[in-house]
Amino acid sequence: MFIDTHAHLTSREFDADRDEVIARASDTGVTSIVNPATGLEDSRRAVELAHRQEGVYACVGVHPHEAAGAGDDVLRGVEELCTEAKVVALGEIGLDFHSESPPRDVQERVFRAQLGIAARTNLPVVIHTRDAMEETVRIVREALESFPAWRSQAATPFSRFPAPKGVFHCFPGDPAQAWDLINLGFAVSLPGIVTFKNAGNAAGVAREVSSEHLLLETDSPYLAPVPHRGTRNEPSRLPLIAAKIAELQHLSVDDIARATSYGAYTMFGIGSPGVPVFVYALKNSLYINLTIRCNADCVFCDRKGEAVIKGHNLRIEREPDAREVIDAIGDPVRYEEIVFCGYGEPTIRLDVLKEVAAWVKSRGGKTRLNTDGHGNVINKRNIVPELVGLIDAVSISLNSTDPVQYGELMRVDGKKFFPAMVEFAREAVRLLPRVVLTIVDMNDVDSEKARRFVEGEIGATFFSRPFF
Ligand code: SF4
Ligand SMILES: [Zn+2]
Repeated sequence: MFIDTHAHLTSREFDADRDEVIARASDTGVTSIVNPATGLEDSRRAVELAHRQEGVYACVGVHPHEAAGAGDDVLRGVEELCTEAKVVALGEIGLDFHSESPPRDVQERVFRAQLGIAARTNLPVVIHTRDAMEETVRIVREALESFPAWRSQAATPFSRFPAPKGVFHCFPGDPAQAWDLINLGFAVSLPGIVTFKNAGNAAGVAREVSSEHLLLETDSPYLAPVPHRGTRNEPSRLPLIAAKIAELQHLSVDDIARATSYGAYTMFGIGSPGVPVFVYALKNSLYINLTIRCNADCVFCDRKGEAVIKGHNLRIEREPDAREVIDAIGDPVRYEEIVFCGYGEPTIRLDVLKEVAAWVKSRGGKTRLNTDGHGNVINKRNIVPELVGLIDAVSISLNSTDPVQYGELMRVDGKKFFPAMVEFAREAVRLLPRVVLTIVDMNDVDSEKARRFVEGEIGATFFSRPFF
């Protein structure tokens, strides 16, 4: 299931076959489409289309190209439309200094006024920016300061973060600029440009911005992806864009579809958070979610927040037994690995873990355990010998080589748990085929020291993963 967050279905180009275009989109899995507006009349058309077509949602607003005609009456009209059902954002609004018409001061006035409407109606914004990134970001920052309550509520009932404030569509900037906007509470989206040979910044952004902060868009009828470049674009082409982004992110198309659909849910309220799952696929591996309980409380972990990973909802309300997990796995050799890993510590449920792992091994599958390495403390015995023959690889969170910092990051007693984790790691190196120790790459953590410690003193493989 894909969500096209930017398609101008109300544009003239679709007058002859609008309903067929929407039906074709649905046939390719594009079940929801957000229609941005360019002016007041187009906003009315967008609302009307959204009322008529189940999977279509409307934005209302004045595009910077149309800013010259946007007097108070027009802006009032836009604001009135915000209460209509299925209006999900103000958009598209912003600045376009590619040509000097309308004049910059006119565009800026209309942009500011519409950010004010978004704040008053608590809607997100869909931003167009062209040759005007610096000015756009300055005005957005002003709005964030002027309207501290705007989208300040939690994105979902469990979220620890405020609702996203909007999306920079057809994002023209580089990855560093994208991350600055993400830190302000925005997402970015990339149209078919990402499939072009000369994709420029778009390819870098698609590679480096995690899928949690990306939305999918076609920008129909413009910017058709390869191999349709130069023709009228339509939402049914969205999977081509998703496939390219998946390739650049080293994920599957399903992963990109799921992660970006979840992003559209938190942004626009389209769709649902999905039911909590005991097993979940990412790329070529299947992950087993045995528990959401953990003896630690890491500062970077979202266990007590949404507990969603790439659109999979891991917030289980009860823990599965071995039979349920085995039934959910199906045939384990379909996957590269069966990984015990959720937003909780799997060794808390050692018996179930061992039973499922034994079954996977008996069917010829490969197993991995992702753990905080506290299993011996949790189970009050050395559990590593019990994993021999059941677990092929273990990933242990090292987090830091400094016991004090370790304790602070995991919010545990570092003096007790750091040595326990190291002992577990040494024992795993002695008895199990493959052991990896990981850190989350954060400013204060000395990753080179960690690498030397892991490779030199523990004799395991070192892995550093980015902190999003
Ligand atoms: S050990 Fe893992 S599951 Fe537990 S709080 Fe830390 S990151 Fe989350
Ligand atoms: Zn547009």
